[in-house]
Amino acid sequence: MSTYSMTIAGKAVESNETITVINPATGVPLAEAPDCSSDQLDEAVAAARTAFPAWRAMSDSERGEVLKAAAARLASNVDELARLLTSEQGKPLDEARFEVMGAAYWLSSLADIVIPVEINEDTQERRSETRHLPLGVVAGISPWNFPVLLSFWKIAPALRAGNTMILKPSPFTPLTMLRIGELLRGVIPDGVLNIITGGDALGPKVTAHPGIDKVSFTGSTATGKRVMASAAADLKRVTLELGGNDAAIVLPDVDVDVVAKDLFWAAFRNSAQICIATKRMYVHEEIYDRLAQAISDYARTVQMGDGAQQGIALGPVQNRQQYERVVNILDDCKAQGFKFLTGGTVEVDKPGYFIPVTIVDNPPELSRVVQEEAFGPILPLLKFNDVDDVVARANASEYGLAGSVWSADTDAALAIAARLETGTVWINEVQHLSPFQAFAGHKQSGLGVENGLGGLLEYTIPQTVTVRAAKVA
Ligand code: NAD
Repeated sequence: MSTYSMTIAGKAVESNETITVINPATGVPLAEAPDCSSDQLDEAVAAARTAFPAWRAMSDSERGEVLKAAAARLASNVDELARLLTSEQGKPLDEARFEVMGAAYWLSSLADIVIPVEINEDTQERRSETRHLPLGVVAGISPWNFPVLLSFWKIAPALRAGNTMILKPSPFTPLTMLRIGELLRGVIPDGVLNIITGGDALGPKVTAHPGIDKVSFTGSTATGKRVMASAAADLKRVTLELGGNDAAIVLPDVDVDVVAKDLFWAAFRNSAQICIATKRMYVHEEIYDRLAQAISDYARTVQMGDGAQQGIALGPVQNRQQYERVVNILDDCKAQGFKFLTGGTVEVDKPGYFIPVTIVDNPPELSRVVQEEAFGPILPLLKFNDVDDVVARANASEYGLAGSVWSADTDAALAIAARLETGTVWINEVQHLSPFQAFAGHKQSGLGVENGLGGLLEYTIPQTVTVRAAKVA
């Protein structure tokens, strides 16, 4: 029996079958989580459907108050939640706290965003307006790198817009969202937010379920395509936030010693398990050697270990599958004879899924480490000497999530930004995100948008109403 329960219709629901959750810092089982049965999925969908009419009938400000109360509940339990998140995800405790507080911030911010009514025509003859109505029951499916924050990127707008929900976290990191489900019982009306967990079979059952109106998915591009194919059967709406292979372009006028640290964290925060981590770093040849030295020197000062321990800045890779994928790319680099500026040697006898920070010295553009999304702490540092060439290389990817340009000359950086085929471009920073700022992947990095007004409207369906004065004789 699991020690955690799902939340369906505001009640604790356990399951005879369970999935085992591993602490990635030790490789040791941490807890059992329920493996939701098909009947329980039906119950969760029915609960969300039943709760929908009353929830949508509430005023915006009433729903906003509920979101704020939920935010306060997360914030007042941040210590417990952060410890749990670190134990299942691996990230340092401070970052786990930051993630939980981020989820609270998203909830309270969404409470105040106004969904506009568009006036199309307002004449003596007719008034025409377009309203944005909730869709119904939304399923959120989230990944293991930010199990809490990325779930609330879906929960906050979906509920704000008047939908009810089923949320399914990753089987690798189900515990913190299950605990949050428990904490929010009695805060969010029964059935409005149902949290279910399960193994690999559950996701496809959710996307195929006829009682669900929309799927909002964050995960890999390969899975995103399966989600879209499954949703096509009954034309469910989809929002897909998928993989990325973000390029950073570093111009020769930067202050190398200052940006080295920022560039390091751009690539390696959360042990590089961020969809918008810098995954290819293009450095102008004039400063390549100096930057390579500075970033490698800095890398050697950063401590990797169990995120629950003080002073640890980088945790393990989150799961064995991902660990093996990164090791495979590392082995390919070795087989091709690439040089490592730092790292490159995995201590196989060490418990947990640790891969040292590895920086590869100018590998060929078509090598796997440049072309694939490793989603782990291995970064190719690449040389360029011509802006047209580097823009072409940055854009030569099926992905188009985000990118960054680093320069003292804002105009030069903006000119490059305008040529990048990505949904976000940062200049002299990365990963600045906000509930008020659109986040969308170009090309195979996604479909639709999260955050900002556009992201909120993805949880609505437009309805145009025209009123013509009644004719009288
Ligand atoms: P994943 O695609 O393996 O899994 C994501 C979620 O989908 C999990 O909850 C999983 O159980 C579920 N799932 C798996 N197969 C399914 C199916 N057939 N139908 C429905 N659901 C299914 O991704 P992951 O390994 O958890 O996350 C890493 C990937 O996510 C990386 O590619 C990363 O770039 C991407 N990511 C993207 C963003 C973004 O906002 N664009 C954010 C974070 C992560």
